[in-house]
Amino acid sequence: MLQRSFRPSAMHIPRFFCPVTPTLGAPWPLPPAASHHAVRVLRLAPGAQVQVFDGSGRQFAGTVTAVEREQCWLKLLAPEQPAVESALAITLGQGLSAADKFDWALQKAVELGVARIDPLALRRSVVRLDGERATRRLQHWQGVVVAACEQCGRVRVPPVGALQGLEAWLAALPTEGLRLCLAPDAPLDVAALAVPPAGVILAVGPEGGFDPAEADRLAAAGFRGVRLGPRVLRTETAALAAIAALQAWHGDYRAMPGSSL
Ligand code: SAH
Repeated sequence: MLQRSFRPSAMHIPRFFCPVTPTLGAPWPLPPAASHHAVRVLRLAPGAQVQVFDGSGRQFAGTVTAVEREQCWLKLLAPEQPAVESALAITLGQGLSAADKFDWALQKAVELGVARIDPLALRRSVVRLDGERATRRLQHWQGVVVAACEQCGRVRVPPVGALQGLEAWLAALPTEGLRLCLAPDAPLDVAALAVPPAGVILAVGPEGGFDPAEADRLAAAGFRGVRLGPRVLRTETAALAAIAALQAWHGDYRAMPGSSL
């Protein structure tokens, strides 16, 4: 039999994002949306184990003490600060793509540890969103990000910016951070990058790629082109491949403290 070199993780414990300060040690009412999910969808009963995180890096283990109609009551323990956030801050500027692909890219980018996501309306974006639809889509994206954080164990919720054009995005970017632009014909190798402590700002084109004017504008704004191997990837694959490569070389793909290989 193969010797097992890993420990199976604990059974899945439902996690709830509650951006409020909870009461500890005494019955505390889970806020309405989370409570509805706990009672109606997950059908949690008294005695069930849960976790609550408030987005500040803290997480609370707890137990369901009572369920009354839609209201779930919890008893929470002292806060923990689990080390689940990457030390490498990655801001993802992602060209808008078809809804299902964009949701998928958002969810996976959160799992891979990005610090911020800015959806970009670019010239070759096939999808167009204006006014009310853009506002509704932003709320939807925030929901996708929160659900991904709940599922994957993150304790900070990466902000999602409102959909904007390239110029507005560039104008609002911090001056620190290594600026990278994914381009299938660029010469640069991810492993060879010198990544500063301030992290990385990553621009990814939509399905049709950046148009030449956008590519020039990004280069003028200090973005360096990075290539991810010899094949052309779909936009959502490219974003995730780049984030994973950056985490492997410069971020949080590291052995657990105290473990040996
Ligand atoms: N025909 C388009 C391809 C677009 S692919 C073009 O030539 O640009 C969509 C986006 O994914 C690209 O804009 C780029 O940001 C990224 N991408 C795809 N494959 C890549 C690769 N091999 N290396 C780097 N970025 C890539």
